[in-house]
Order: sequence, then C-alpha cells, then structure tokens
Amino acid sequence: MANLMLGDIRVDRIVEMVLPFETLCSFFPDSSQKQIDLCKPWLEPWALCPETGKFILVVQSYLVRSQHHTILIDTCVGCDKTIPYYMDWNRRTDRSWLSKLAACQVSPADVDYVFCTHLHCDHAGWNTQLLDGRWVPTFPNARYIMSREDFEHAEALDEPGYNENVLPVVEAGQAVLVESSYAMDDNFWFEPTPGHTSGHVAVGMASKGNEAVMSGDLIHCPIQCAYPEWNAASDADPALAARTR
Ligand SMILES: [Zn+2]
Repeated sequence: MANLMLGDIRVDRIVEMVLPFETLCSFFPDSSQKQIDLCKPWLEPWALCPETGKFILVVQSYLVRSQHHTILIDTCVGCDKTIPYYMDWNRRTDRSWLSKLAACQVSPADVDYVFCTHLHCDHAGWNTQLLDGRWVPTFPNARYIMSREDFEHAEALDEPGYNENVLPVVEAGQAVLVESSYAMDDNFWFEPTPGHTSGHVAVGMASKGNEAVMSGDLIHCPIQCAYPEWNAASDADPALAARTR
C-alpha cells in the first residue's frame, strides 16, 4: 500500500470513494470556462474527468502513525448514514474502508486519536457505526479531537450527521472539544482554517525537520491552488474561506 514518510511519521491514505462529482462551473460559482480550460492540461484525467467535465472527488482518511500514536484524520462517509440529499452516500453498505484499514495492520481498537477537520457527513461518518441498532464509536479506545466551534455549530444544526456521527461519541465520553489552535505535541497540531465551516481546522504535522498540513475541505479540487479565490458551493462563509486559502 502506498505510503509517505514524513520524518518518523508514516502516512497512508484510506480511500473510501473516488468518483466524478460535479462540473467545475457548477461547484465553483466564481469560475469561468476560460479559466477551467487553461488548467485542463494538468488536471485531466486524474483530477478532472475528460468525458463528463466533472472533478474527481476523493473521499478518504489519512492514517498517521508516529512512534507513540495511531491517528486517523477524518473518517469519510461510513455505512448506514442518513444523507438524503446525496444518494451515493445515503445508507451505504460497503464496509471496504474498514478492510483497507485492516490491510495497514490497524484494527479499530488500535486507533488512539481521531482528528476531525470538521464535522460534515463525508468527514465524520466512520466516527461511529451501527451495531445492534445503536450508533457506537467505531474506535473504542480513541479520543476524538474536534474544534469546539465546529462542534457547537453542528450541535445547533441538529442534523442527522450530528446525531449519528457526533452525539454517540460525546455520550461515550470520547469527544474532546478543543480550541482551533490546539497542539497535541511537537508532532501534531491544529491550524484554524475557517470559512468552509466556521470552526474548520487543518492538521499540521512535523517530524525531523519535515512538515505537512492536511487541509480537509479548505480545498476541494487542486484547481483552487491556481484560483484560491474560487469558493466551493458548500463553503459556509465564502469570503472568509477565500481569505483563509
Ligand atoms: Zn465539508
């Protein structure tokens, strides 16, 4: 399985879905066809589907292992979740994400931290699973670290995503609400990246002079590296999201 070493930190991708999602012009209301055409040579076919014009959305987690910790950054869509506005994600039964985790020699009990960049349904789904008709944390020994601001926003919305993905973790005593500038140690910390949601965070990582940042939904498609001023239709505060990028 492909992995990346960042000093002593090993990073593996645990991919749940790769699918053409929406056309760039519909997902990015600020875009123009001329700007899109300029980027096609470096985006097709890996990030932009030449046949449909839709960008390729990868729903994935990062499995991050250091000497002391086994961490998951975001947990995809999950199974059995109520997501009526997007049928490809609604009540999924494909549990292969768990098999891919197992293929990395990691069982759910081995995970000691789950970092949530934000609590949208495609980032927090495997936080829980349905067992005997009850939502329970998928990772029984993990602390789930989430931004307090993002949590309070999700709680106020009281959507199925909160009730299925977040509340059971709180009730199990495994949720840890932190400020957006939280630092776990010298290797892992949060960076406030508001805009997509008000409490969105990126996860910073460092080891032996190497640094990386896991950006969550700060960026949805690599074309936003060329046009950071473009906002996704799903950004809660478009002007702030653009400033953050
Ligand atoms: Zn999101």
